[in-house]
Amino acid sequence: MRSKFGDLLVAEGRPDKNEARHVNAPIELGSTMVFNTLSAFEEARDARYESGTLYYGRYGNAASFQLEETITKLEGAAGVTLTSSGVSAISHTLSALVLPGSHLLVADNVYGNTRNFCEAVLKMRGVEIEYFNPMEIAQFEVLIRGETCAVMFETPATGTFEFPDVKQIAEIAKQKNIVTVLDSTWGSPILLNALSLGVDVVVYSASKHISGHSDCMMGVIASGKEDMHKRIRSCVFAYGDKIGGQEVFLALRGLRTIEMRMRHVDQSTREICEWLSKRDEVKKVLHPIFDDCQGHQNWKRDFDGAAGLFGVVFHPCSDENIEAFVNALHHFAIGVSWGGYESLVLPVKPMRSVEGSWSEDGQLVRFSIGFEKVETLINDLAFALPLLERNWS
Ligand SMILES: *Cc1c(COP(=O)(O)O)cnc(C)c1O
Repeated sequence: MRSKFGDLLVAEGRPDKNEARHVNAPIELGSTMVFNTLSAFEEARDARYESGTLYYGRYGNAASFQLEETITKLEGAAGVTLTSSGVSAISHTLSALVLPGSHLLVADNVYGNTRNFCEAVLKMRGVEIEYFNPMEIAQFEVLIRGETCAVMFETPATGTFEFPDVKQIAEIAKQKNIVTVLDSTWGSPILLNALSLGVDVVVYSASKHISGHSDCMMGVIASGKEDMHKRIRSCVFAYGDKIGGQEVFLALRGLRTIEMRMRHVDQSTREICEWLSKRDEVKKVLHPIFDDCQGHQNWKRDFDGAAGLFGVVFHPCSDENIEAFVNALHHFAIGVSWGGYESLVLPVKPMRSVEGSWSEDGQLVRFSIGFEKVETLINDLAFALPLLERNWS
């Protein structure tokens, strides 16, 4: 299994190589940091928003700066800010970029909590939210107007797995002077280098691939330009967002093995998807290896592999059938989130505002592949699939 990032993932952000040391950076806990002189304190206070400045626990510590720097290198970013969850990475970024009275374009297939933040918070602040189908570039371009300040989108949507043309959306946005924010949780930071496609800000949930063991919550905001990075970072600090020392430790440790985990899961997932695609119960497997996956060409052009999260559209059947199927699976646990070592399953009902942006007839179920043997997972599916009786009447 080839590794592209192995050297960096092993070496970066580790304790000082010149001293006897533990392999991993220790867990750092603390609020106050103390100084020997007032001038040293003042110097730190004035530079407290900069990654690397030790001043007070809320702004970070040596270990969290190591994590930020390592991800900065992986993304080729101007700077990275960590937040307490993927959702807070999104909400802080949008808070920093979207002004009252402005117009925000949001992809119709975004993560549910992104939509929720727009509806529950940004609308209240007088921001006009407009949804667009990210697979229809012409339609997107027409919606941009003088008050439009930013576009928020995802690749892929993590329920319905469309892969938009990120490059083209970023290009159009640049021409029209609007900021692009991309949620790249599925691919980042190993499979997709979103900043190189021209987007301004990439956000993702480190609770998924980076931590990798479903035991840590964190968000990442990576900006391509210094001014954007500073603007968002001050907003995160102004809100007082803060990550714990234990989470930093777990995320740093998870990062060491992320590439191995992702490449392994990529292979198993492809085998499982191939198998599923041949089953009678299955109408369509939503995984980018298949030509009929929306944006398959964009995935081929931009990504270096696929994550273990995909969808299956089953032929129309009742919700009770789906419930029976999901309950009958032994090795796929029912739960949100993904990117951990345990396989998961979840029925999904896509939420849409733009007509035609989701038109598959059938039942959608999302799977996240973990580290169980492929054979075990296939046997599990083979046992449960007959419970999906098609409604012929
Ligand atoms: C899980 C997820 C989030 C939210 O991340 P949390 O760490 O759970 O807050 C955001 N975007 C996408 C695409 C996700 O899958």
